[in-house]
Amino acid sequence: MRVRVAINGFGTIGKRVADAVAKQPDMELVGVAKTRPSYEARRAAEKGYRLFVTGEGKSSDFDAAGLATSGTIHDLLAAADVVVDAAPDKVGKENRKLYEKAGIRAIFQGGEKADVAEASFNALGNYDVCRGKRTLRVVSCNTTGIARAAAVLIPRWGVDHWEVTLVRRAADPAESKKGPLNGIVPTFQLPSHHGPDVKSIFPDLVIATTAVVVPTTLMHVHVNHVRLKTAPRDAAEVLDAFRATPRFHLFAPWEHVDGTPQVMEYARDRGIGFNDMMENVLWQEGLRLDGRDTYFFQAIHQESIVVPENVDAIRAMLDLAPDGRSSIAITDRALGLARS
Ligand code: NAD
Repeated sequence: MRVRVAINGFGTIGKRVADAVAKQPDMELVGVAKTRPSYEARRAAEKGYRLFVTGEGKSSDFDAAGLATSGTIHDLLAAADVVVDAAPDKVGKENRKLYEKAGIRAIFQGGEKADVAEASFNALGNYDVCRGKRTLRVVSCNTTGIARAAAVLIPRWGVDHWEVTLVRRAADPAESKKGPLNGIVPTFQLPSHHGPDVKSIFPDLVIATTAVVVPTTLMHVHVNHVRLKTAPRDAAEVLDAFRATPRFHLFAPWEHVDGTPQVMEYARDRGIGFNDMMENVLWQEGLRLDGRDTYFFQAIHQESIVVPENVDAIRAMLDLAPDGRSSIAITDRALGLARS
């Protein structure tokens, strides 16, 4: 029997999670909920997804646009085992009341505070802790990226302390109302909220994060300095650990990937999903080891990194896989991310 999944909120994250769920062997996409007709609602209909009206939306607006709907969010929730909330920041908290009333399991996104759900989730980081929960929050794109890297470093060498500077994209490619268009904007919250958020997955990690926003839409880049508890043999050993872990993609110097433009060009060339890059991207030449001090850059495709995590969160909730690694393997094979 396949788990019936509803998606509430069909924007950047929701539409990607919908496609990812539809590809899983053990899941069925029951439908997607939108507030108003749009090009994204049109694509949902073109893909054959059942559309439901949510939020302040009116079915008459969909009728006027010629888009057939199958009912309201209440009908969608009644037909599903779990809902993935992909509404804008802070709206998920409001939607939680709907889910509680419908008695349905719910997964929230990183735009919500940690207390929106019983636990925060990262597939490599804390799958087992999240098994069987009725509510989970998939942490944000930046937190997911750091948590994945922490899941590689902590078990092998231990982390004494970690400093990350996040160079954040200003907006997603489809967002035309955000900035800055020119300039670099520091985040004056020091440390930035990302460090505490990582601790919702790794409570004992000593981590400090700072952030600046720059005029790009492609990806975030993290500049990491990690003092490990024990020294790796050499930089190659650290690179091998990242390379051996699912959801990491390393570029070699001979590939001539100078920065995020070539990373996203590679993603367009590869053609997975929305031409997404769901893995943490590391540059081999961008990792340096000095005793216990490791320095590395990683790039994070904000629009897609949390997509496989949402799929694994569904599996953790419903205990559909023996462990996190098994769930990751199923997800990644279905998405075309698996390496062999
Ligand atoms: P988005 O604005 O692209 O999409 C949100 C969608 O929800 C829109 O289609 C909007 O019409 C719809 N919506 C509005 N009110 C609603 C309601 N009451 N009920 C249901 N849907 C409603 O936003 P997004 O970028 O997809 O972000 C969704 C969540 O994912 C946020 O919590 C965000 O912080 C998180 N997130 C975003 C990114 C990113 O880079 N875009 C990365 C990781 C996590």
